[in-house]
Amino acid sequence: MTSISPLKHTQASGTHPTILWFRRDLRLDDNPALVAALRDGGAIIPVYIHAPEEEAPWEPGAASRWWLHWSLAALDESLRNCGNRLWILRGPSLEALRRLVAETGARAIHWNRLYDPATRARDAEIKQRLRAAGLHCESHKSNLLFEPWEILNAGGQPYRVFRAFWRAWSRALNGRPPYPAPEVIPGLPQDRPEPGERPRLDDLDLLPRIDWDQGLRATWTPGECAAWVRAQSFITSRLAQYGEKRDRPDQPGSSRLSPHLHFGEISPRRLLALIVTAFGDPTRGAAEPYVRELGWREFAHHLLYHFPETPTEPLDRRFSAFPWAEEDLETSLRAWQQGRTGIPLVDAGMRELWHTGWMHNRVRMVVASLLTKNLLIPWQSGARWFWDTLVDADLANNTLGWQWTSGCGADAAPYFRIFNPVLQGQRFDPDGAYVRLWCPELARLPNKYLQQPWAAPQSVLADAGVRLGVDYPHPIVDLAQSRARALAAWERIR
Ligand SMILES: Cc1cc2nc3c(=O)[nH]c(=O)nc-3n(C[C@H](O)[C@H](O)[C@H](O)COP(=O)(O)OP(=O)(O)OC[C@H]3O[C@@H](n4cnc5c(N)ncnc54)[C@H](O)[C@@H]3O)c2cc1C
Repeated sequence: MTSISPLKHTQASGTHPTILWFRRDLRLDDNPALVAALRDGGAIIPVYIHAPEEEAPWEPGAASRWWLHWSLAALDESLRNCGNRLWILRGPSLEALRRLVAETGARAIHWNRLYDPATRARDAEIKQRLRAAGLHCESHKSNLLFEPWEILNAGGQPYRVFRAFWRAWSRALNGRPPYPAPEVIPGLPQDRPEPGERPRLDDLDLLPRIDWDQGLRATWTPGECAAWVRAQSFITSRLAQYGEKRDRPDQPGSSRLSPHLHFGEISPRRLLALIVTAFGDPTRGAAEPYVRELGWREFAHHLLYHFPETPTEPLDRRFSAFPWAEEDLETSLRAWQQGRTGIPLVDAGMRELWHTGWMHNRVRMVVASLLTKNLLIPWQSGARWFWDTLVDADLANNTLGWQWTSGCGADAAPYFRIFNPVLQGQRFDPDGAYVRLWCPELARLPNKYLQQPWAAPQSVLADAGVRLGVDYPHPIVDLAQSRARALAAWERIR
């Protein structure tokens, strides 16, 4: 059970409290909604409303729920250190907010904006209804450095090509410095009765009932403090080599900040400010390759905002008629999900995902390419699996990643660029440390055959203790033939 420590309320001087609605901005640092609520001058009621059904059809998956639980616990602790605490309510959000207003006499409500279609529609309705009821209701920019409508091309249209978006986005980079976290967040007076029966964090059932999350627990510490620790240690000790090492799954070359950024435990503005302090101009020199990835993140949100149908529909409409495979879909999909395709780099990635809730970007591209091009399984099936298993599952980034790799998105890789998992493994996991870690049954194979055990002579397999089809599967697909089949499928729609 999550323990709740005793609370020392810090009483506010104003008469009317303000509601601060936390969503995916689970931090106190650089939080514009919090800053605006503090400016109101009264007590602040920090609230999280549990209403996953309002995000349908993209309710948080199992790994995201796990993260959310611990991130909310961390946020509650931070709020308590400031003399307040997190109130947890159940949705529907509009009803919950209305009840809270009636019970506390709040006159204002602040939140930070999100960009997925379901949340946008819900928030617009809530804002309109609460304003009509006389509340001061305000949303703020916090999740992105630029709102999706702030960066447009000369014709006032959204960008569809990253290079042009990056040029405009990186030129525009400046803006306000991040807001520091407050030391005190005044709460309701101590003697005020607690309104209604409210759920506790544990009641939300975010944690799994069966114990599959050991790998997540061993890998991650959710919450704002951990996000800061990770960001600072990355910037001081690894950012300078990021450009060189970011593609290597066998090395800790990337920041692994994606779940922290997704849940808003650190703001992109804070991250950028830390980078500027350490490296100067973020769009030049050593910092540039990393800041460019933050640019991809903003591009993904730009696309999701302007093309809200893309989580399920290809941006390139020719792909609506793509001839996906019709046979053995379920069997192949299951082998891919379970890391049993018989293709080592792919299996290593899928097992890393299952075990840790994260996968290296290069390997994400390789496994997505195998699924959508070699196996001809619709990209939406892969995106769904990632959605349930990634701790950083993010509708904007996931949609962009899947559409880019399968060839149907904005700025997609040319269709004929089909990743060869053997060559990718030999190039980016040259000593095989990554494959050996996640596929220990292959650990004793020499490097020459590690990425393609099917090519190894029987004597080599025997020496390494590998019986193909017994200890490790035969490949579920022939890479060369399936590549040719994918190119033929492409010819039918291009
Ligand atoms: C098929 C596929 C699915 C993906 N699904 C997701 C997802 O659900 N959530 C997610 O956050 N990322 C997704 N990505 C993008 C990328 O793989 C991850 O952001 C990255 O691996 C996270 O690791 P990191 O924090 O160490 O990244 P770093 O290399 O340290 O990058 C820093 C930050 O930039 C952002 N970023 C990096 N690469 C990308 C990218 N290609 N597109 C958008 N943002 C990027 C992330 O917020 C990341 O934390 C996907 C990529 C592919 C190919």
